[in-house]
Amino acid sequence: MRYIEPHAHMVSRTTDDYVSMVATGCAAVCEPAFWAGFDRTSAAGFHDYFLQLTDYEPKRAAKFGLPHFCWLCINPKEAEDVGLAEEVLALIPEFIDRPNVLGIGEIGLNKNSRNELKVLEMHIDLAARHDQLILVHTPHLEDKFKGTKLTLDALRNNSRIRPERVIIDHVEEHTVKMVLDAGFWAGMTLYPGSKCSPVRAIDIIETYGGERLWMNSACDWGVSIPLSIPYTAMEMRKRGHTAAAVDAMIYQNPHRFLSQCAKFAIP
Ligand SMILES: [Zn+2]
Repeated sequence: MRYIEPHAHMVSRTTDDYVSMVATGCAAVCEPAFWAGFDRTSAAGFHDYFLQLTDYEPKRAAKFGLPHFCWLCINPKEAEDVGLAEEVLALIPEFIDRPNVLGIGEIGLNKNSRNELKVLEMHIDLAARHDQLILVHTPHLEDKFKGTKLTLDALRNNSRIRPERVIIDHVEEHTVKMVLDAGFWAGMTLYPGSKCSPVRAIDIIETYGGERLWMNSACDWGVSIPLSIPYTAMEMRKRGHTAAAVDAMIYQNPHRFLSQCAKFAIP
């Protein structure tokens, strides 16, 4: 088995996780910029985080033979303070040409507030100006449907954004169709308690086809399972999906989307 983990917060994970991922066939890992589990107190905290994502973490992953890529942004949970967000966005161009940076993400909405929406639009504009791929986080539970709609509208309002270069992550049964119908890619997050379980993710694949879908563990500092992609692949095989269909879902699909960034390459 081979797979790409397109969404994992490895700065929060142990070296044992790197070993397990590589041993189960992980060929590359991609790390969106995210909340640290606490609010950073200044833009300087983000500067150091961007250094970690573009310098230290790829070196740590390389010790296990795993190519590491990342995405940059101020995440939606810290986007309520527009002034701070402006300072953080001003830092990003300094990092954007680094060899492991794939684009802008994970941006989006958390509580669907006006300030979050303003910061989302600022990120979309930044991505358009620098011709970057976009990775979008969608809100949890009751805010997800409305938040996904608002996000798609914000993306469509910027005429320079091409939907095939944007992935909307954490889709569920009630949001996946509107994302795919609008021409975007959709990501399913395999979580033990919320978001998608493996069974629900496979139901979605069987309902909508797997053409512009990927799966990820989104493992971070909370309860999450770094090996949820290979576990779900085993479940797909049990449900009768061929080895080729599994490979298309867990390796070829993320490869196809991410290769739109010339820097994405698996040796
Ligand atoms: Zn995430």
